[in-house]
Amino acid sequence: MAMTNTTERAAIDRLMATIDAEAAMCGPESGRPFLSPRVAKAMRLVSRAHFVLPTHVDLAYVDCALPIGYRQTISQPFIVALMTDLADIAATDRVLEIGTGSGYQAAILSLLAREVHSVEIVPELAESAARRLQALGYGVAVHHGDGRAGYPAAAPYDAIIVTAASWDVPPALVAQLREGGRLVVPLGHEHESQRLMRCVKRADGSLEQRACLAVRFVPLVHGEPPPATGPAPARSSTA
Ligand code: SAH
Repeated sequence: MAMTNTTERAAIDRLMATIDAEAAMCGPESGRPFLSPRVAKAMRLVSRAHFVLPTHVDLAYVDCALPIGYRQTISQPFIVALMTDLADIAATDRVLEIGTGSGYQAAILSLLAREVHSVEIVPELAESAARRLQALGYGVAVHHGDGRAGYPAAAPYDAIIVTAASWDVPPALVAQLREGGRLVVPLGHEHESQRLMRCVKRADGSLEQRACLAVRFVPLVHGEPPPATGPAPARSSTA
């Protein structure tokens, strides 16, 4: 289903109202009852309809995760907004995202930061996201590889966002974060409770960690990439 500009505007307005309400509701836990105006503006500017499968365009502005193929999902918009907010991105920042997926989160980051790198383990997703982001004019460097190793060539990063659940904080990501840099990562196993963590790198190299929200993400692959099968629904949402 194609959307007219007016329909899309109205749908984005409704989505942003939902996100504001969720932010307020989760505020005591997340520490962020309001989205920063910069993040809210970036969320409004990126058409999520360009990042979902053609069959899901009518659901693009519903606040839920959607399948994008290869057993992966585009994250729930509220979670994208919250993670972006927790990363406190300044216009001069260099940012690394792990888990490019559709490229939606990366597109939003690219409106806020000076430089964005994103690493994706599924080659087909890396390729399609890179093509999509370029066609839409978003300045994101997409790299195919295992994001647990980060992307050392462009380190250090002012902020790192991991968009798949990890058992641990990958040491390479801590090493590639500058002192005072922010790392936002869902920690926990698949099918178990996961916690969205906001970490800040201390001068001694250790991490100050704060649990922000119970979440559910697809797993960060440790080792072998997931089998290349077609779309299958996997949810990524607040628990
Ligand atoms: N940020 C994405 C959604 C992420 S879903 C978006 O905005 O659409 C999680 C993504 O992480 C999936 O695309 C999955 O293939 C990828 N992924 C899982 N393990 C990974 C790893 N070790 N390295 C890089 N990407 C990984």
